[in-house]
Amino acid sequence: MIGSYQACAELLEEADYISIVTHLRPDADAIGSTVALGRALELIGKKVTMHVGQNHPVPRTFLTIPGADRVREAHELPTDQDLIVTVDCGSLDRTGAISGYLHSRLDDLLVIDHHASNTGFGSTNLIDHTESTTVILRDLIELLGVRLDKPMAHALYAGLMTDTGSFRWGSPRMHELAAELMEHGLDTRQIAVDLLDATSTADVQMIGRVLSGLQVRETGNHRAAILIADVETISGHSHAAVEALIDFVRALEGTDIGAVFKEQVPGRWAVSLRSSSLDVSQIAVRQGGGGHVPAAGYTTFGTREKIVSEFLDVLGETP
Ligand code: AMP
Ligand code: MN
Ligand code: MN
Repeated sequence: MIGSYQACAELLEEADYISIVTHLRPDADAIGSTVALGRALELIGKKVTMHVGQNHPVPRTFLTIPGADRVREAHELPTDQDLIVTVDCGSLDRTGAISGYLHSRLDDLLVIDHHASNTGFGSTNLIDHTESTTVILRDLIELLGVRLDKPMAHALYAGLMTDTGSFRWGSPRMHELAAELMEHGLDTRQIAVDLLDATSTADVQMIGRVLSGLQVRETGNHRAAILIADVETISGHSHAAVEALIDFVRALEGTDIGAVFKEQVPGRWAVSLRSSSLDVSQIAVRQGGGGHVPAAGYTTFGTREKIVSEFLDVLGETP
């Protein structure tokens, strides 16, 4: 753990005008953390703006989280706030289009995060290796003297559910917190449908096309299940459907790692890694990315042959 909850709460209490920033290509923990903290700060009288480190809007899937429509793009970040807080960003470059500006505001930067790879790039840091950033915010919101309400509980639950792979990994605390949040009257079935399960016929057909190209590749002591989702196949499909691809390879029999290569624009790939026996964060970090032991990712560039062979090279060197 880096920093203290108390110091973090005091810094937030001292500021009047706060901007909250989360990572580019946000997930539900990123958006849930942003809006839960934003609402808590507004309830104690702060002026708040919320931003994602990219210049295109957040995927529609996340607009089901109450208040997510308040999260603005990077270019709308004001410059006259007293304090900037990053949530769920493991490193400064994860703030994407905002990282250049944040370099000039490092003295006013509070970092709240749960990534083990985060070394603390703010002037004040609260880095606790919890299941999700929303787990940290649950305690921080209480320290700020704010009572949780249903919209905040919904946002915190969204991050907790998705960052634990729907409660597959984490400590017993994740279930205790889920129970506490459910007491606020959350419709947890609907939240799971909204964030994870909702699909269209076209999305299922896209998933079928990607799955038909499944490869199992052997290297060193490992066997990897690999899916390649090129831009032609996935463009126009829902974020939730593309992110669901990893679930088909996270634990394929006879393999010890699953990888999905998602081509976002021609030649640029977002890579998701999952394993229940390997530390995939080490592989991701070697490729310039980051994440957690069971779930990590990185961005890479090139042809499909190049990106797969680079991945297999790194995997082959992994003990
Ligand atoms: P994903 O596979 O996109 O769900 O990401 C799994 C985990 O890896 C998340 O905790 C992310 O924070 C982390 N991650 C994914 N992509 C990157 C990246 N390009 N750089 C750093 N961390 C990443
Ligand atoms: Mn995240
Ligand atoms: Mn997270």
